Amino acid sequence: MTERPGTTALDARRRAGELDTLAAGGPVDLLVVGGGVTGAGVALDAASRGLRTVLVEARDLAFGTSRWSSKLVHGGLRYLASGRIGVARESAVERGILMTRTAPHLIRALPQAVPLLPSVGRGTAALVHTGFLAGDALRWSARTPAAVLPRARRVGPDTAQRLVPAVRTAGLRGALVAHDGQLVDDARLVTAIARTAAGYGASVLTRVRADRVTGTSAELTDTLTGRSLTITAGAVVNATGVWADQVDESIRLRPSRGTHLVFDAAALGHPRAALTVPVPGSTSRFVFALPQQLGRVVLGLTDEDAPGPVPDEPVPTEQEIDFLLATVNTALERRLTRADVRGAFAGLRPLIDTGDGDTADLSRRHAVLRSPSGVVTVVGGKLTTYRAMAQDTVDFVLRARGGAVPPCRTARLPLVGAPGHPDGRPLPDGAAPASLLARHGGEARAVLESARLPRPLEPVAEGIDVTRAEIEYAVTHEGALDAADVLHRRTRIGLVPADADRARAAVEEIVDALAG
Ligand SMILES: Cc1cc2nc3c(=O)[nH]c(=O)nc-3n(C[C@H](O)[C@H](O)[C@H](O)COP(=O)(O)OP(=O)(O)OC[C@H]3O[C@@H](n4cnc5c(N)ncnc54)[C@H](O)[C@@H]3O)c2cc1C
Repeated sequence: MTERPGTTALDARRRAGELDTLAAGGPVDLLVVGGGVTGAGVALDAASRGLRTVLVEARDLAFGTSRWSSKLVHGGLRYLASGRIGVARESAVERGILMTRTAPHLIRALPQAVPLLPSVGRGTAALVHTGFLAGDALRWSARTPAAVLPRARRVGPDTAQRLVPAVRTAGLRGALVAHDGQLVDDARLVTAIARTAAGYGASVLTRVRADRVTGTSAELTDTLTGRSLTITAGAVVNATGVWADQVDESIRLRPSRGTHLVFDAAALGHPRAALTVPVPGSTSRFVFALPQQLGRVVLGLTDEDAPGPVPDEPVPTEQEIDFLLATVNTALERRLTRADVRGAFAGLRPLIDTGDGDTADLSRRHAVLRSPSGVVTVVGGKLTTYRAMAQDTVDFVLRARGGAVPPCRTARLPLVGAPGHPDGRPLPDGAAPASLLARHGGEARAVLESARLPRPLEPVAEGIDVTRAEIEYAVTHEGALDAADVLHRRTRIGLVPADADRARAAVEEIVDALAG
């Protein structure tokens, strides 16, 4: 078993060397197909149990659904409301593990405020309040301290306005406030998991597509060079999310689309809490305006059946945009319009088709399934529960192999950047911008010290708080292979197309300088 992590740095040279090693043959215990949160989690679990693990991702880490989420680390409250206590408890436990041990550097406690406006009747308010108290009970049962996630409470109108300055004032009776976890970014979580896996010896290979996948083999194509090779492995895990049925045709999925809109935080008065607005006519659906990094607020979320071919990048519909604006406007002093929208994105939930029901009611629980071809597919679930999904999957693979099943270790393994990871080193106060610390945690010092190009602390473009050193680190340590990887996955500058346009030239210059 690999006890001490090796290097977590991913770059083009490591990728090329590991592809050469694979082409030369040699035993592989586990091939993981798909580099979203699920595949990265499986790779980390397997590599940290001592399995020789290879992860292949056709595009880039977090290219698929994993970068289109609401970036919440959920306590599972909505599952509790529908009586799915097991799913809710698993979420709460995994949230606690992420926030206290494995990734506290990437997650903060986010207050969520439901303003008590005339449109929110006493009945709805009582239901929300009961739900928040149940959420507290879940947090307590998962042993997550109130110091990490404060208790739910009711606040008066003044505090409500301080938390969400844009809230409508007429008739405001105050707000109900509860806390959940919020990731600085979902794609950063995936990269951190994949790099931590690489530190345990996993080969993490982006731009490598798997075809003709069986229970013990696959044809791999390096999409940068066109070179192909056949890999054989003790087991193969299909973690391709909404593409799972293309890798294993015995899988039946029913994707559901969720859309978010992106605003400047100034358009909502720089909120400190997530504005949570009940959807008119429903007691269980809400839209959220979530304050985010890079001075933005993200408004979501829809839940629409999305049958048909799976696009590379799903596109929000006009109706979804109208629905989100109309719903949030019921709680705002000044109406948001389409002119305020700076970006929009949509993602497809990889839900398992149970044959009937509205997508909002389909099972959110994950499944580990073995197909007749022997491929093990893990699908469903959510970002929050990636670790438990990975544990179930690797346990399944090891039990099928026979012999001893080494215990899962991931509940206690800090991801790269988290306190306790060997790569972390303290940084004197004020040595790095707060935004860089929020994205890199204990690796902030490494980001600064490994920068070789000029003006490392300069922002990549005016008004965007991503430094040139972070762009460099994305290429030298985080496996970004081109400017698109940097703009759209290692940073989220690309969520606002106009920002991506402003930063592109500087990012390309840094990527080219490092390639030369
Ligand atoms: C709108 C929305 C909001 C959400 N919000 C939250 C939230 O706030 N909190 C939460 O916990 N969960 C949330 N979720 C759920 C969560 O985002 C998903 O469950 C999770 O990201 C799925 O990850 P995955 O790795 O299974 O799939 P993906 O991230 O889609 O990864 C699959 C990968 O497989 C690759 N691939 C496909 N075919 C091949 C092939 N042949 N060879 C190699 N690679 C291949 C793809 O390129 C892709 O990168 C949300 C989901 C949606 C849609």
